[in-house]
Amino acid sequence: KKIVIALDGYSSCGKSTTAKLVAAELGYAYIDTGAMYRAVTLYFLQHHVSLTNPKEVKDALDQIEVEFHYNPKTARNEVYLNGLNVEDEIRKMYISNQVSEVSVVPEVRHAMVAQQQKMGKKRGVVMDGRDIGTAVFPDAEVKVFMTADVDTRARRRQEELLEKKQLVNLDEIRENLKKRDHIDSTRKESPLRRADDAHLLDTSHMTIDEQVEFVMNKVTS
Ligand code: C5P
Repeated sequence: KKIVIALDGYSSCGKSTTAKLVAAELGYAYIDTGAMYRAVTLYFLQHHVSLTNPKEVKDALDQIEVEFHYNPKTARNEVYLNGLNVEDEIRKMYISNQVSEVSVVPEVRHAMVAQQQKMGKKRGVVMDGRDIGTAVFPDAEVKVFMTADVDTRARRRQEELLEKKQLVNLDEIRENLKKRDHIDSTRKESPLRRADDAHLLDTSHMTIDEQVEFVMNKVTS
């Protein structure tokens, strides 16, 4: 029987790397919900949408189509905004610096959550984010909540960005992670928190293989 696996947690704990590998092992779809909020943020910045103007936000959301398409070259789902591949653009620091403010807006969350629920309706998905186990799929069969100390997370993030040829100072990354964690966990609408039935996974001293094994053990147990 196909299930839903919800991986939530703080920024840059290895959620997407783990989720991708678990999905591949199970033959499930992997859905990176952070990418959806990042794509919305890109659109809002491009169109100067005022976050405090509900009508502007609503009109903008009506204009936005976020989709995932599998790219065999990178062997991953890449995110498209209104038909354009924005996978590289949405990972840049200027998006990371705005995405949590955009993700606070209730209308934005309602639109994304509805779309995520549709994507996982047939189950057989691994979804990573902040509110999957609490708001998107409270009935997910497996829930894992990931954490890691902030220095480890900042270092891993820096390496990831470097692979994309983006040189970012470690302090800037650390401050961005802390700021996002703070906004994400103190917002009113479905704040980042561990669901009561989520397994806690601290990845500070774990390899990726060990993280995958931890999740797979929960799936098969
Ligand atoms: O996962 P990622 O770090 O790319 O997410 C970027 C941001 O999107 C998070 O810091 C958070 O503000 C927002 N987000 C969210 N709910 C999710 C996934 C991401 O609010 N389910």
